[in-house]
Amino acid sequence: MSDSLTFSTTRPLFGRVAVITGASRGIGAAIAISLAKAGAAVVINYLSNQARAEAVANSCRTYGSRAITVQADVTDFHAVERLIKTTANELGEPDILINNAGRARSALLLDTTEELWDELMDANLKAPFFCVKTVLPGMIKKHFGRIVNISSIWGISGGSYEVAYSASKGGLIALTKALAKELGPSGITVNAVAPGAIETDMLNDLTVDDLKQISEETPVGRLGTPEDVASVVLFLVSPGASFITGQIISPNGGLVI
Ligand code: NAP
Repeated sequence: MSDSLTFSTTRPLFGRVAVITGASRGIGAAIAISLAKAGAAVVINYLSNQARAEAVANSCRTYGSRAITVQADVTDFHAVERLIKTTANELGEPDILINNAGRARSALLLDTTEELWDELMDANLKAPFFCVKTVLPGMIKKHFGRIVNISSIWGISGGSYEVAYSASKGGLIALTKALAKELGPSGITVNAVAPGAIETDMLNDLTVDDLKQISEETPVGRLGTPEDVASVVLFLVSPGASFITGQIISPNGGLVI
């Protein structure tokens, strides 16, 4: 399918196959639903929460799109190969990859163990590398691909007590920019979305007072929703964004400008 302006305005992703990692809840679930609503066939990847992944798939199907769930730990290269092979067999070679699965943990640098460092780097940087490496042959063959990496504002500005998380998300931004240069000639765009504080399970460790303070420090006066992030991702994989690559877009309510 060519990425011309002849796309349907109501279902602009019809005919596309999208893999969304970590889509059983939070931001990934909202992205899966929004891409399905736009017509894409979607793969809802998850780590352990099968019931929630199935619920997201059912929501996607209500928009008339095909949706499957695939359990795979994206920090494991063989599991990623199985994820992409299952996608190709059941829905077709992926056109769209959203590297969303991730982990966050706060710790002072002196309290950051090698295990914690590796856990965050594996989930936030190595897993996207594995996923990109696995989908690329198919995308290069069809001379089309849309890759969106979910980074974080802390990957741009550095989060206090979050050196390892910030470094992993900053690394993902550098990966995005370098890969965009490498893949532009192959018809593949690579962009990153760097959200501010978004209301998901990932914020469960913060107190009510912490959340209130973040809302007050955010110029628009509230925390973000998963849908605030999903709408940016939808734009980046839509036909109207075909000239955008290597960019970092930050839905953060003005928290970092
Ligand atoms: P979340 O609510 O904690 O959900 C994490 C998702 O990732 C779940 O679907 C989980 O699956 C999956 N997952 C975790 N490790 C995985 C692995 N190794 N393999 C496959 N799936 C895995 O997180 P979120 O808040 O939606 O965050 C999504 C992304 O946005 C992350 O990359 C995060 O760093 C980034 N982000 C979040 C915020 C925020 O404020 N929430 C801000 C900036 C950036 P199970 O359900 O099966 O466990």
